[in-house]
Amino acid sequence: MGGPDLFHPDRDPGQSPGRYAPSPTGRLHLGNLRTALLAWRSAREREAAFLIRIEDIDSGRSREEWVEVQLQELRQIGIDWDGEPVRQSQRHELYRAAIDRLEAEGLLYECFCTRAEIREAASAPHGEFPEGAYPGTCRDLTESDRAERRAAGRPPALRVRANGSKVGFEDHICGRIEKTLDDFVVRRNDGDFAYNLAVTVDDAKQGIGEVVRGADLLDTTPRQLWLGDRLGLTAPARFSHVPLMLGDDGERLAKRHGAITLEQRIEQGSDAETVRRELIGSARMA
Ligand code: GLU
Repeated sequence: MGGPDLFHPDRDPGQSPGRYAPSPTGRLHLGNLRTALLAWRSAREREAAFLIRIEDIDSGRSREEWVEVQLQELRQIGIDWDGEPVRQSQRHELYRAAIDRLEAEGLLYECFCTRAEIREAASAPHGEFPEGAYPGTCRDLTESDRAERRAAGRPPALRVRANGSKVGFEDHICGRIEKTLDDFVVRRNDGDFAYNLAVTVDDAKQGIGEVVRGADLLDTTPRQLWLGDRLGLTAPARFSHVPLMLGDDGERLAKRHGAITLEQRIEQGSDAETVRRELIGSARMA
C-alpha cells in the first residue's frame, strides 16, 4: 500500500492570518462561538491578523439579517478582527475564474443525478469508497446523453474528476488523516458555487496561515487540498480541527439541549464574560 498522492504536513503558520468563517443561517450556537474563540486566540497568540469571512454563497439558506447578529455575537464574546469582514457573495468572479481553470484542464464534468439516484447507486458496495461517495454515474456520458438530460429539463451540477486520488494531511489536533476522494461538486445545479470551491479559493487568496474549525469539517480538508493543488494555490500552513461541543447526552449540540446560544444564556441570567470563560475553560484540549 503506497502513501497518498498528495500529503500536506503541519507547518508553522508564522504570522499569517487566522480566520473564522460563519455561514449566516441562524444564530451562532455556543459550539460555534467556542470554535471562533479558539481560532481567534490562536491567531492572536501568534500576533497574526484575524479575519472574518461571511460564507453567504448558499443563496437558499443565507439570510442577510443573520450577518449582523452573528458579528454582534462574536463581539459580545470578546472577539475582534482586522478589516471589514469579507463576503463570499461578493467574490463570484474569483470562483468563476477557478471553475474556468478547472474546465480548461479538463477536470470538470456535468452531473445530472438527483440525490435519490446517488443514494441508490451508491448503496451498491464499491470497495474503498465510503458510503455516500459519488459512484461516477455521469463521469463518462456522451454528448448525446448530456443533450438528452438537458432536454429533459435537468440542470447539471459540475463535478471534478478527483476520482480515486488519495490525499492526506497532518492535522494539528487530530493527527494524520487520509482520504480517497470521490468526484465532488464544485458548482451546484442551482448555479451556486460549492463550499469546497469557495473556501479553497478564499483561504489561499486571503493568505490564511491556519484554519481552525470544527471537527465536523475534517473530511472536507482533503478535497480542499486537492482542489488548491489543481488550481496552483498555496494551502494554509496548518489545519486545526477542534472537537465539537456536545450536549449532556454526548450528542452534537442542538436545540433540545436547552440554552445553546449566547442570547439564551444571557436571558437565563448569565453574562457574556462568564460564558466566554466557560467556553475557553471547556476547550483546554486545543
Ligand atoms: N462556513 C462553515 C460553517 O459555518 C465553516 C467553513 C470553514 O471554516 O471552513 O460551518
